[in-house]
Parts: sequence; C-alpha cells; structure tokens
Amino acid sequence: MKGYSLLKGLLILLLPSLLLYGFSDRPAVHDYAEKRERMVREQIIQRGIRDKRVLDAMRRIPRHLFVDRSLWQVAYEDHPLPIGEGQTISQPYVVALMTEALRLKPSDRVLEIGTGSGYQAAVLAEIVKEVYTIEIRKGLKERAERLLRRLGYKNVKVRHADGYFGWQEYAPFDAIIVTASANHIPPPLIKQLRDGGRLIIPLGSTLYYQTLTLITKKGQEIVTEQMGGVTFVPMIGEVQKR
Ligand code: SAH
Repeated sequence: MKGYSLLKGLLILLLPSLLLYGFSDRPAVHDYAEKRERMVREQIIQRGIRDKRVLDAMRRIPRHLFVDRSLWQVAYEDHPLPIGEGQTISQPYVVALMTEALRLKPSDRVLEIGTGSGYQAAVLAEIVKEVYTIEIRKGLKERAERLLRRLGYKNVKVRHADGYFGWQEYAPFDAIIVTASANHIPPPLIKQLRDGGRLIIPLGSTLYYQTLTLITKKGQEIVTEQMGGVTFVPMIGEVQKR
C-alpha cells in the first residue's frame, strides 16, 4: 500500500504541470510540420516551383528555429521576418525560387554570401555535398553556426568575413548565391565560379527594389537572365566602396 500512496502522491504532484503543459500555448511539433506542408503547397508549388529536392528540403527544415521564439507562430507565413541586427530571413518562396534557379546537383559545392539566420544554408545543405557560407555580422554568424551544428549539418562551413571577396580556399564553386542586394556583381565571385557554374544575386541600386539576376559562366562569356523584382537588405562592406 505504501508504494500505491507514493504513486498517488506523485500523480497529485505532477498532474497540474501535466495539465498545464497540455493546455499551454506552446504548439506541438506536429503543428509546425502541418504549417510547413501548407507553406510548401500554397506558397511554393502553387507559384510554379517544381524541383523536388528543394520542396523536400523545405518540408523537412524547422524554419521556426531560425527566428526568435516570439515569431515561431508566424515562421511559415508568406513573408520575410526579422532576425536581429536589422536583417531578415527571406520569404519562403524567394528561398525556393533562388535555390531552384541554381539547378543544383547532389555532388555540388555551393557558396552563399549572407548567412543571416542560416536557413538558406540549411536548404542548400539538404541538397548538395558542400556548403560554404559567409556572414559579415559576427553575432549572426555565431548564432547561425551554432544552430546549424545543433541541427546536425556537417557539410556547412560558416565564416565571418566580407563576402565580396568570396572564399578562395574552396573555389571554384558550382553555384554561388548572394542573399543581400548589390549594385554590381563582385568580380571575385565571378572568378570563383567554375565554368558552367551559376550565380544568383538581387541586383539594383535602390534600397527598396532589386532585380533577381541569374548568371551562367560560359568560358569568358557571362549569360544573364532576369527573374523578376525582389527586396533584399543591402550588402555592406567593400561592395559599397566601388
Ligand atoms: N540568407 C539569409 C538571409 C540573408 S539577410 C537567411 O537565410 O536567413 C542578408 C545577410 O547578408 C545579413 O545577415 C547581412 O548581415 C549579410 N551581409 C551583408 N553584407 C555582407 C557581406 N559583404 N558579406 C557577407 N554577408 C553580408
């Protein structure tokens, strides 16, 4: 009988917290999986993205973990969100559009300029073999690096530097993605792109509007394709001096 009353005592002690947990406003994990599925269907597939690897990556990655806890509930909505230091995580559709445009293969090595929250790097890491990502703001670099490590991405290297100069040590890259806006393509990035490689960047000289531009390197030639209007936070550092 002693054991029984102990059990009862324990239950009485624990019950309130169990109930509290059940009714708290903390959303369950499956809640986010549902939100993610809806995001992919309604924002991404419906707008024409077809690359299965991109869709699967975005179905898997817990995007809410890349923003502050106070924004978890809105992390899967159709817009960018603040990530601190005046920077933003891109709208899910823009992430999908840019990633698909790079026509990635599993064996690829990709360079990202503008790590930010690390979300885009995670999407890339789900698809390709090696991801190199550069962030100029130290606090963001460290936070993103920590989260990517916690989520188990062993194929991402994060560096604190001005991405204008690329990452010579690991060049050439099969693809380069610049997730901050610039009024020109940093020449070192074109140099570090392999022949046949693709680079995508929001190009424009205003703060509010840029043109998503895809270039393909073909020998000495650069083929350019414009993919529509976007709004990104500006790239800072060397790019603003030229
Ligand atoms: N790709 C990010 C969002 C990028 S926001 C994500 O998935 O969350 C743009 C980022 O570019 C910001 O974090 C900003 O600090 C960074 N940035 C701006 N200029 C840079 C530069 N010259 N080199 C590297 N990163 C830069």
